[in-house]
Amino acid sequence: MDIQLGTTEALPCRRCGGFLHLAVTLPHPGWCNAKGEHVRGYQTIGLCPSCDDADPKAQALLAFFVVNERAGIDSLSELRLLVEEWMTRQER
Ligand SMILES: [Zn+2]
Repeated sequence: MDIQLGTTEALPCRRCGGFLHLAVTLPHPGWCNAKGEHVRGYQTIGLCPSCDDADPKAQALLAFFVVNERAGIDSLSELRLLVEEWMTRQER
């Protein structure tokens, strides 16, 4: 799975408007439009330190950002594993 990481400063949390640690864009499973055609798209999932604090699925990833204020080259492989685990736990 390809994961693109970038700054989230221009993308606030949709729930509280606060700072996001991370935002991941991935393919949406799709839906049917008014003509009955299957439409595909993308969805963005944000990791918010406030809104996701009580979510057990986000704990490992939130803990990463407590220890690592910013992801560096030496921590990218660990971050990648945590993001993949977090994303597989997301309800779609
Ligand atoms: Zn939030």
